[in-house]
Amino acid sequence: MSAVAADPASVTGQLRPRVLTGPRAVVDLAAVAANTRLIADRTSAEVMAVVKADGFGHGAADLARTALAYGATWLGVTSVAEACALREDGIDAPLLSWLNGLDADFATAVASGVDLAVPSLEHLQALSGGAPGARVHLHLDTGLARDGADPHEWAALCLAAARAQHQGLVIVVGVMGHLPCVEHPGHWSTRLGRERFAWGVAVARRCGLRPRHRHLASTAATLTDPRTHHTMVRIGAGLVGIDPSGTTALAGALTLNAPLVSVREAPAGTAVGYGHAWTASVGTRLGLVPLGYADGLPWAASGRAEVLVRGVRRPLVGRISMDQAVVDLGDTGAGPRDTVTVLGPGDDGEPTAADWAHWSRTLPHEVVTGLGARTPRVVLPAPSPHLGGLR
Ligand SMILES: *Cc1c(COP(=O)(O)O)cnc(C)c1O
Repeated sequence: MSAVAADPASVTGQLRPRVLTGPRAVVDLAAVAANTRLIADRTSAEVMAVVKADGFGHGAADLARTALAYGATWLGVTSVAEACALREDGIDAPLLSWLNGLDADFATAVASGVDLAVPSLEHLQALSGGAPGARVHLHLDTGLARDGADPHEWAALCLAAARAQHQGLVIVVGVMGHLPCVEHPGHWSTRLGRERFAWGVAVARRCGLRPRHRHLASTAATLTDPRTHHTMVRIGAGLVGIDPSGTTALAGALTLNAPLVSVREAPAGTAVGYGHAWTASVGTRLGLVPLGYADGLPWAASGRAEVLVRGVRRPLVGRISMDQAVVDLGDTGAGPRDTVTVLGPGDDGEPTAADWAHWSRTLPHEVVTGLGARTPRVVLPAPSPHLGGLR
């Protein structure tokens, strides 16, 4: 999404429309502020705000600044490119990048003051050779068999890191892990992950390392299991109102809405859209919504999804197309000047990211990160934390 200021008059540039019209994604940073504060109040550990994937589709820099103002002290992203983009935006908070191939631009990361996760001996070698002086967080696989060093290789990695630190090539400041099934509080794998992490830290210490930052928990573990907190928790989904554990009411931060492009009368028997997947059984009125799967509405939600029109839920009918979808307006009386809410926090009855995820058999994470590049983003600022704070 391209970010624009809340004031449409400030949309400038010769080729841009002078007034903001059409669909828009409204990001409410007050919600991000409230979520950050709620989570920070649940732990004595530091909070790393995870702003990967353009801040879960909400805007990485906006999410980062808001979280930092409301209790986060660190930022986390996957790639060096994401980290450098935040630095270019003028954000100088402690920042960790944890997912990079051996060909990543580690030198620029180190020059930009970006900490790097080290999941393997190869990564340690690449850093020692190409980016001496790197601050690193050794990454242990604590149960996903995905990212992070295999426990069988952990001792060798710790020893090599201690040697590299002795030679002045790296500074080991952290140890990190990640848990596989935290959306199910009490899952056996969380205990196993905790034990493996404690073992990993002990091994690092026996190798002479003193990792100051020890971090294992993401949003769900932070909200359900204090034993996972250690010195820092990494919060992504929770910042934008998604609690994978389903235990805590957080505030949705994104609202996607669009004005109807047109409205037509549809007699009984009218077949709608590609494949004629829906046919009106009684006469109705159909509204055209200028958003489709290229804008992040999952095609798989076709036939199930709803939107909010004049305060009531109405079904999208027929297949969701690339750029448009059709809503059965029924007797709402809505016309082409009405705006429909496609997705939002749910406070006024509009569908949530969780609803869209349910309709398309995916995760709310995929819904919010999929919202498209061509929808202008309107940012509602958070109140200043020093001037009375949150509403
Ligand atoms: C995305 C991610 C997080 C954040 O997880 P949430 O469930 O979104 O809070 C934390 N750690 C790692 C390694 C991640 O990839």
